[in-house]
Amino acid sequence: MHPSPAADDGDPAKPLSSSAYFLLIPVFLLLLISCKEKTPAGPKTISASDSLAQLRQVKKTADSLASLNRKKKKIYLTFDDGPNKGTRNVLRVINEEQAPASFFIVGQHTLDTRQQKETWEMLKADTLIELCNHSFSHARNRYTSFYADPAGVISDFSKSEELLGFKNNIARMPGRNAWRIDSIDHTDIYESKAAIDSLQQAGYAIMGWDIEWTFDHKTLAPDADTALLLRRIYNMLEAGKTKTPGHLILLAHDQAFQQEEYVAGLRHIVSQLKNNPEYELLVASKYPGVR
Ligand SMILES: [Zn+2]
Repeated sequence: MHPSPAADDGDPAKPLSSSAYFLLIPVFLLLLISCKEKTPAGPKTISASDSLAQLRQVKKTADSLASLNRKKKKIYLTFDDGPNKGTRNVLRVINEEQAPASFFIVGQHTLDTRQQKETWEMLKADTLIELCNHSFSHARNRYTSFYADPAGVISDFSKSEELLGFKNNIARMPGRNAWRIDSIDHTDIYESKAAIDSLQQAGYAIMGWDIEWTFDHKTLAPDADTALLLRRIYNMLEAGKTKTPGHLILLAHDQAFQQEEYVAGLRHIVSQLKNNPEYELLVASKYPGVR
Protein backbone atom coordinates (compact mmCIF):
# COMPACT_ATOMS: atom_id res chain seq x y z
CA MET A 1 0.00 0.00 0.00
CA HIS A 2 1.32 3.39 -0.99
CA PRO A 3 0.74 6.31 1.35
CA SER A 4 -1.91 8.67 -0.01
CA PRO A 5 -0.47 11.82 -1.57
CA ALA A 6 -3.30 13.80 0.01
CA ALA A 7 -1.85 13.05 3.45
CA ASP A 8 0.30 16.18 3.30
CA ASP A 9 -2.53 18.56 2.25
CA GLY A 10 -3.38 19.56 5.79
CA ASP A 11 0.24 20.30 6.83
CA PRO A 12 -0.08 23.26 9.27
CA ALA A 13 3.51 24.39 8.54
CA LYS A 14 2.58 25.20 4.94
CA PRO A 15 1.56 28.91 4.73
CA LEU A 16 -1.76 29.81 3.03
CA SER A 17 -2.17 32.82 0.75
CA SER A 18 -4.65 35.59 1.81
CA SER A 19 -7.06 34.58 -1.02
CA ALA A 20 -7.02 31.02 0.30
CA TYR A 21 -8.03 32.34 3.78
CA PHE A 22 -10.84 34.29 2.09
CA LEU A 23 -12.10 31.12 0.36
CA LEU A 24 -12.12 29.26 3.69
CA ILE A 25 -14.58 31.72 5.38
CA PRO A 26 -17.81 30.28 3.83
CA VAL A 27 -16.60 26.75 4.62
CA PHE A 28 -16.02 27.77 8.25
CA LEU A 29 -19.48 29.41 8.42
CA LEU A 30 -21.12 26.28 7.01
CA LEU A 31 -19.31 24.15 9.58
CA LEU A 32 -20.42 26.50 12.38
CA ILE A 33 -24.11 26.33 11.29
CA SER A 34 -24.07 22.54 10.96
CA CYS A 35 -22.51 22.24 14.45
CA LYS A 36 -25.22 24.47 15.97
CA GLU A 37 -27.96 22.38 14.36
CA LYS A 38 -26.62 19.23 16.00
CA THR A 39 -28.38 19.27 19.34
CA PRO A 40 -28.08 16.16 21.52
CA ALA A 41 -31.79 15.38 21.03
CA GLY A 42 -31.59 15.76 17.25
CA PRO A 43 -32.09 12.84 14.89
CA LYS A 44 -29.08 10.66 14.31
CA THR A 45 -27.95 10.12 10.78
CA ILE A 46 -28.56 6.45 9.94
CA SER A 47 -27.03 4.74 6.97
CA ALA A 48 -29.17 2.55 4.70
CA SER A 49 -27.57 -0.65 6.03
CA ASP A 50 -28.11 0.49 9.66
CA SER A 51 -31.81 1.20 9.09
CA LEU A 52 -32.26 -2.14 7.29
CA ALA A 53 -30.67 -3.92 10.27
CA GLN A 54 -32.96 -2.00 12.64
CA LEU A 55 -36.03 -2.87 10.57
CA ARG A 56 -35.02 -6.54 10.64
CA GLN A 57 -34.66 -6.35 14.43
CA VAL A 58 -38.12 -4.72 14.82
CA LYS A 59 -39.66 -7.42 12.60
CA LYS A 60 -37.90 -10.16 14.58
CA THR A 61 -39.23 -8.73 17.87
CA ALA A 62 -42.76 -8.38 16.41
CA ASP A 63 -42.62 -11.98 15.10
CA SER A 64 -41.51 -13.40 18.44
CA LEU A 65 -44.22 -11.38 20.26
CA ALA A 66 -46.81 -12.66 17.77
CA SER A 67 -45.68 -16.27 18.26
CA LEU A 68 -45.80 -15.77 22.04
CA ASN A 69 -49.38 -14.43 21.72
CA ARG A 70 -50.32 -17.38 19.49
CA LYS A 71 -49.24 -19.75 22.26
CA LYS A 72 -51.29 -17.87 24.90
CA LYS A 73 -54.69 -19.24 25.85
CA LYS A 74 -57.50 -16.84 24.91
CA ILE A 75 -60.12 -15.76 27.42
CA TYR A 76 -63.27 -13.89 26.49
CA LEU A 77 -64.95 -12.02 29.37
CA THR A 78 -68.65 -11.69 28.65
CA PHE A 79 -71.22 -9.83 30.76
CA ASP A 80 -74.92 -10.41 30.21
CA ASP A 81 -78.24 -8.59 30.66
CA GLY A 82 -77.15 -4.94 30.92
CA PRO A 83 -77.58 -2.11 31.04
CA ASN A 84 -78.68 -2.45 34.67
CA LYS A 85 -77.57 -1.35 38.14
CA GLY A 86 -74.30 -3.30 38.01
CA THR A 87 -73.20 -2.33 34.50
CA ARG A 88 -71.31 0.89 35.36
CA ASN A 89 -69.29 -0.93 38.03
CA VAL A 90 -68.31 -3.62 35.53
CA LEU A 91 -67.38 -0.97 32.97
CA ARG A 92 -65.25 0.84 35.57
CA VAL A 93 -63.30 -2.32 36.49
CA ILE A 94 -62.80 -3.23 32.82
CA ASN A 95 -61.35 0.24 32.17
CA GLU A 96 -59.22 0.33 35.32
CA GLU A 97 -57.71 -3.03 34.40
CA GLN A 98 -57.64 -2.22 30.65
CA ALA A 99 -59.17 -5.63 30.03
CA PRO A 100 -61.09 -6.14 26.77
CA ALA A 101 -64.62 -7.49 27.41
CA SER A 102 -67.95 -8.02 25.67
CA PHE A 103 -71.37 -6.94 26.93
CA PHE A 104 -74.44 -8.85 25.77
CA ILE A 105 -77.18 -6.23 25.81
CA VAL A 106 -80.91 -6.63 26.41
CA GLY A 107 -82.57 -4.03 24.15
CA GLN A 108 -85.43 -3.33 26.57
CA HIS A 109 -82.90 -2.46 29.28
CA THR A 110 -81.52 0.46 27.24
CA LEU A 111 -84.98 2.12 27.45
CA ASP A 112 -86.26 1.29 30.96
CA THR A 113 -84.97 4.25 33.04
CA ARG A 114 -83.01 7.44 32.47
CA GLN A 115 -80.05 5.90 34.28
CA GLN A 116 -80.12 2.84 32.00
CA LYS A 117 -80.32 5.08 28.92
CA GLU A 118 -77.25 6.98 30.16
CA THR A 119 -75.43 3.71 30.89
CA TRP A 120 -76.14 2.59 27.32
CA GLU A 121 -74.55 5.82 26.04
CA MET A 122 -71.49 5.13 28.23
CA LEU A 123 -71.23 1.61 26.83
CA LYS A 124 -71.45 2.88 23.25
CA ALA A 125 -68.72 5.47 23.88
CA ASP A 126 -66.26 2.93 25.35
CA THR A 127 -63.68 1.72 22.83
CA LEU A 128 -62.26 -1.10 24.98
CA ILE A 129 -65.42 -3.18 24.89
CA GLU A 130 -67.64 -4.86 22.34
CA LEU A 131 -71.45 -4.86 22.38
CA CYS A 132 -73.46 -7.89 21.27
CA ASN A 133 -77.13 -8.80 20.93
CA HIS A 134 -78.83 -10.66 23.81
CA SER A 135 -82.38 -10.12 22.38
CA PHE A 136 -84.80 -7.27 22.97
CA SER A 137 -87.15 -8.85 25.52
CA HIS A 138 -84.95 -11.54 27.15
CA ALA A 139 -87.96 -13.77 26.41
CA ARG A 140 -89.69 -11.89 29.26
CA ASN A 141 -88.16 -14.81 31.18
CA ARG A 142 -90.81 -17.17 29.70
CA TYR A 143 -88.41 -19.32 27.77
CA THR A 144 -90.62 -22.24 26.72
CA SER A 145 -93.17 -20.10 24.88
CA PHE A 146 -90.42 -17.81 23.48
CA TYR A 147 -88.55 -20.69 21.86
CA ALA A 148 -91.75 -22.30 20.58
CA ASP A 149 -92.01 -19.43 18.06
CA PRO A 150 -88.90 -19.28 15.78
CA ALA A 151 -90.20 -16.27 13.78
CA GLY A 152 -90.86 -14.41 17.03
CA VAL A 153 -87.29 -15.13 18.21
CA ILE A 154 -85.84 -13.70 14.98
CA SER A 155 -88.00 -10.57 15.18
CA ASP A 156 -87.05 -10.05 18.85
CA PHE A 157 -83.34 -10.07 17.97
CA SER A 158 -83.96 -7.91 14.86
CA LYS A 159 -85.77 -5.34 17.01
CA SER A 160 -82.65 -4.91 19.17
CA GLU A 161 -80.43 -4.89 16.10
CA GLU A 162 -82.45 -2.06 14.51
CA LEU A 163 -82.69 -0.11 17.77
CA LEU A 164 -79.05 -0.42 18.87
CA GLY A 165 -77.08 -0.92 15.63
CA PHE A 166 -74.57 -3.55 16.77
CA LYS A 167 -71.31 -3.65 14.81
CA ASN A 168 -71.16 -7.47 14.75
CA ASN A 169 -73.57 -10.39 14.22
CA ILE A 170 -72.92 -12.12 17.57
CA ALA A 171 -75.98 -13.16 19.55
CA ARG A 172 -76.50 -14.96 22.83
CA MET A 173 -79.76 -16.77 23.52
CA PRO A 174 -81.67 -15.72 26.66
CA GLY A 175 -81.70 -18.54 29.22
CA ARG A 176 -79.91 -20.99 26.95
CA ASN A 177 -76.28 -22.04 26.52
CA ALA A 178 -76.49 -22.61 22.77
CA TRP A 179 -73.81 -22.34 20.10
CA ARG A 180 -73.83 -21.89 16.33
CA ILE A 181 -70.36 -20.68 15.32
CA ASP A 182 -68.67 -22.13 12.26
CA SER A 183 -68.66 -25.91 12.88
CA ILE A 184 -69.73 -25.60 16.55
CA ASP A 185 -73.37 -26.62 16.82
CA HIS A 186 -74.66 -27.19 20.33
CA THR A 187 -78.13 -26.94 21.84
CA ASP A 188 -78.53 -27.41 25.59
CA ILE A 189 -82.34 -27.76 25.61
CA TYR A 190 -83.65 -29.59 22.56
CA GLU A 191 -87.05 -27.83 22.42
CA SER A 192 -85.23 -24.59 21.56
CA LYS A 193 -83.36 -26.10 18.59
CA ALA A 194 -85.64 -24.99 15.73
CA ALA A 195 -85.73 -21.37 16.93
CA ILE A 196 -81.95 -21.22 17.39
CA ASP A 197 -81.37 -22.81 13.96
CA SER A 198 -83.64 -20.13 12.46
CA LEU A 199 -81.70 -17.36 14.15
CA GLN A 200 -78.47 -18.78 12.73
CA GLN A 201 -80.04 -18.91 9.26
CA ALA A 202 -81.02 -15.26 9.71
CA GLY A 203 -77.26 -14.50 9.86
CA TYR A 204 -76.32 -14.57 13.54
CA ALA A 205 -73.29 -16.26 15.11
CA ILE A 206 -74.66 -17.69 18.36
CA MET A 207 -72.25 -17.70 21.27
CA GLY A 208 -72.75 -19.68 24.48
CA TRP A 209 -70.19 -19.97 27.28
CA ASP A 210 -67.69 -22.45 28.73
CA ILE A 211 -67.82 -21.41 32.40
CA GLU A 212 -70.36 -19.33 34.25
CA TRP A 213 -69.49 -17.21 37.29
CA THR A 214 -72.71 -18.05 39.07
CA PHE A 215 -74.61 -15.77 41.46
CA ASP A 216 -77.38 -16.12 44.00
CA HIS A 217 -80.59 -15.16 42.21
CA LYS A 218 -82.18 -13.88 45.43
CA THR A 219 -79.35 -11.80 46.93
CA LEU A 220 -77.55 -11.26 43.57
CA ALA A 221 -74.25 -12.08 45.33
CA PRO A 222 -71.69 -13.67 42.98
CA ASP A 223 -70.02 -16.90 44.08
CA ALA A 224 -67.35 -15.64 46.49
CA ASP A 225 -64.78 -18.39 45.88
CA THR A 226 -62.72 -16.53 43.28
CA ALA A 227 -59.73 -18.86 43.75
CA LEU A 228 -61.93 -21.82 42.77
CA LEU A 229 -63.22 -19.96 39.71
CA LEU A 230 -59.64 -19.22 38.59
CA ARG A 231 -58.68 -22.86 39.13
CA ARG A 232 -61.68 -24.04 37.11
CA ILE A 233 -60.70 -21.72 34.25
CA TYR A 234 -57.11 -22.98 34.37
CA ASN A 235 -58.10 -26.66 34.55
CA MET A 236 -60.66 -26.43 31.75
CA LEU A 237 -58.15 -24.78 29.41
CA GLU A 238 -55.39 -27.25 30.37
CA ALA A 239 -57.69 -30.22 29.79
CA GLY A 240 -58.81 -28.85 26.41
CA LYS A 241 -62.42 -29.10 27.57
CA THR A 242 -63.65 -25.76 26.19
CA LYS A 243 -65.82 -25.62 23.02
CA THR A 244 -62.72 -24.54 21.11
CA PRO A 245 -59.50 -25.81 22.77
CA GLY A 246 -57.31 -22.94 23.93
CA HIS A 247 -60.26 -20.51 23.96
CA LEU A 248 -62.52 -19.99 26.98
CA ILE A 249 -65.67 -17.91 27.24
CA LEU A 250 -66.50 -16.78 30.76
CA LEU A 251 -70.07 -15.69 31.46
CA ALA A 252 -70.85 -13.24 34.25
CA HIS A 253 -73.87 -11.03 34.90
CA ASP A 254 -73.72 -7.24 35.39
CA GLN A 255 -76.39 -7.33 38.07
CA ALA A 256 -74.16 -9.36 40.41
CA PHE A 257 -71.77 -6.39 40.76
CA GLN A 258 -73.90 -3.70 42.37
CA GLN A 259 -72.14 -3.73 45.75
CA GLU A 260 -68.53 -2.70 46.30
CA GLU A 261 -67.56 -5.95 48.04
CA TYR A 262 -68.67 -7.88 44.93
CA VAL A 263 -66.96 -5.37 42.64
CA ALA A 264 -63.72 -6.14 44.53
CA GLY A 265 -64.14 -9.82 43.62
CA LEU A 266 -64.65 -8.89 39.99
CA ARG A 267 -61.54 -6.69 40.04
CA HIS A 268 -59.56 -9.61 41.49
CA ILE A 269 -60.69 -12.04 38.79
CA VAL A 270 -60.15 -9.57 35.94
CA SER A 271 -56.67 -8.53 37.12
CA GLN A 272 -55.58 -12.14 37.73
CA LEU A 273 -56.62 -13.12 34.21
CA LYS A 274 -55.25 -9.92 32.62
CA ASN A 275 -51.85 -10.20 34.31
CA ASN A 276 -51.34 -13.92 33.77
CA PRO A 277 -48.67 -14.23 31.03
CA GLU A 278 -50.26 -17.49 29.85
CA TYR A 279 -53.53 -15.74 28.95
CA GLU A 280 -54.67 -13.10 26.52
CA LEU A 281 -58.04 -11.38 26.92
CA LEU A 282 -60.01 -10.78 23.74
CA VAL A 283 -63.40 -9.43 22.64
CA ALA A 284 -66.10 -11.77 21.29
CA SER A 285 -65.57 -11.01 17.58
CA LYS A 286 -62.01 -12.44 17.85
CA TYR A 287 -63.39 -15.89 18.70
CA PRO A 288 -62.41 -18.44 16.02
CA GLY A 289 -65.04 -18.78 13.31
CA VAL A 290 -66.88 -15.52 14.07
CA ARG A 291 -67.15 -13.42 10.92
ZN1 LIG B 1 -79.44 -13.23 29.98
